[in-house]
Amino acid sequence: MTRISNHLPTAELQALDAAHHMHPFTANDELARLGARVITGAKGVTLTDSEGEEILDAMAGLWCVNIGYGRDELAEVAYRQMKELPYYNTFFMSTHVPAIALADKLAELAPGDLDHVFFASGGSEANDTNIRMVRRYWDLLGKPEKKVIISRKNAYHGSTVGAASLGGMQGMHAQGGMPIPDIVHINQPHWYLEGGDLSPEDFGLQRARELEEKILELGEDRVAAFIAEPIQGAGGVIVPPETYWPEIQRICDRYDILLIIDEVITGFGRTGEWFGTQYYGLRPDIMTIAKGLSSGYAPIGGSMVSGKVAEVIGKAEFTHGYTYSAHPVAAAVALENLRIMEEERIVEHVKNEAAPYLAEKWHQLADHPFVGETKIVGMMASLALTADKSVRKPFASAPGTVGYMVRERCFKNNLIMRHVGDRMIVAPPLVMQKDDIDLLFERAVQSLDEGYKAVKDAGLMKTAD
Ligand SMILES: *Cc1c(COP(=O)(O)O)cnc(C)c1O
Repeated sequence: MTRISNHLPTAELQALDAAHHMHPFTANDELARLGARVITGAKGVTLTDSEGEEILDAMAGLWCVNIGYGRDELAEVAYRQMKELPYYNTFFMSTHVPAIALADKLAELAPGDLDHVFFASGGSEANDTNIRMVRRYWDLLGKPEKKVIISRKNAYHGSTVGAASLGGMQGMHAQGGMPIPDIVHINQPHWYLEGGDLSPEDFGLQRARELEEKILELGEDRVAAFIAEPIQGAGGVIVPPETYWPEIQRICDRYDILLIIDEVITGFGRTGEWFGTQYYGLRPDIMTIAKGLSSGYAPIGGSMVSGKVAEVIGKAEFTHGYTYSAHPVAAAVALENLRIMEEERIVEHVKNEAAPYLAEKWHQLADHPFVGETKIVGMMASLALTADKSVRKPFASAPGTVGYMVRERCFKNNLIMRHVGDRMIVAPPLVMQKDDIDLLFERAVQSLDEGYKAVKDAGLMKTAD
C-alpha cells in the first residue's frame, strides 16, 4: 500500500515543495527562500509540523475545520463509501443515496424555504452556479435584461473567474481581466476605517442605502441580484453596524431583485446559529455553502435555493454542472459531519459556552496599546492594529506591513492567527474548550507585545496623514 510518509528531513521537503509546488495566494519565489512550514498531522485544535512543533490552529485551517481535526468517524464513512460507490454522477437522470440523504438533511437545516440544493466542490464553484442561476431565472421569467449582480468592495466570494468577479478584491481583479461584465460593486460597511465622523448606526444605514441608489441608477429592470457575506471573512472579519442588514433586507424586499447570502464561512455554526442568515434574521433566495459543510474533510459546497427560484429553474434544462457535483464520498463525509454537529450539540456549545468566553477574552485585547478596536461574532473575531488609539486611522506604512510583522510573531509562538492588511483575525474550530481559548489568548498577547516592540523598533509606529 502506498503511504505518503514524512521520512525526509524538513529542508528536503521544503526544497521539493519549492521545486514543484505552486502555492495559492503566494509569491512563490519568496516562499522558496523562506521554506514552507510542513504540517504533518493534527488532532482536535492542534497541528503538528515536521519539526515536532505543536501549533494552536485559531483559523480552523481556512475557516473550515469546524468540528476539529482527527475525527475517525469521518475517515470511516469515507472508507465505506469508497468501497460501496466511490463515484457516480448525478447528470443524465441518475442519483445516489449520499446525494439524496445530504440534500434532505440540508433542506431540514437551512432556514425558510431554502429546500433545494445544487452541489459543487467548493464555495467558488457554488458562486459561479449562482451567477448563472440568477441570470437564468430572470431569462425564464421573460426579463433577460435583468443581468447585473451587485456586490461589495472587499467582499470575498472565491477565486474562479466568476467568483473573483463577484468578490471585491482589487488585487485579484488586477490579474486576469476581471470583473466579468455586469457585476458592479458598492462600498462595504467597514466603519472603523471608512466611517469618518458618522456614528456606526448612521454609517450602516448610509452604506446599505448605496444598494438602493445603485438599483435606482441602473434601473430595477437591469438588476438580477445582490450578493453579500453576513460578516465579511477574508476581507478582515468586518462586522457590519447593527443598522446595516435590516436596511439591506428592506431594500431587497422593495425592489424585485434576488438576495444571495454567501454563508461559506458563517454557515454551520460559526455565528452561534446554524447560519448567519438566522443570526441576522435574513430571508435569502439563495445561500452559498461550503467549508464547514464537511468541516474541510472533503471538498464539497453548494447553493441552497428557495422554492420560488427552484421552481422557475426547473422548467427547462439548466445547462450547468460539475463532474463532482454531489460527489458520493464528499456527500457521505458531509452528512457524517452534520450528524456529529447535531449529536454533540456543537452549535449550542458555540452559542452558550465557547463564543461568550472567547468574546470576554478577545475584548480584553482592546486595552492593549497596539489595538484600536476588537470585533467578534460567535467564533470569528478581528482586531485593528493601530499606531494611535485616539484616532481610527491606518498606519503610514503600506497596508499589511505591520500586520505581517505580528503574524510572524504568532507563527513563532505557535499560534495560527492571520492578518488582513493591519487587522488580525481568528476563526477557531468550533469545538474549542476554555483551556484552548486561554492558550489562544496567552499566545495572542505575547505576539502582540513582541509585535508592538518590533514595530516601534522599526520606526513604523506612525499614523497616515
Ligand atoms: C472561502 C470562501 C469562498 C470560496 O470557497 P472555495 O471553497 O475556496 O472555492 C467563497 N465565499 C466565501 C465567503 C469564502 O470565505
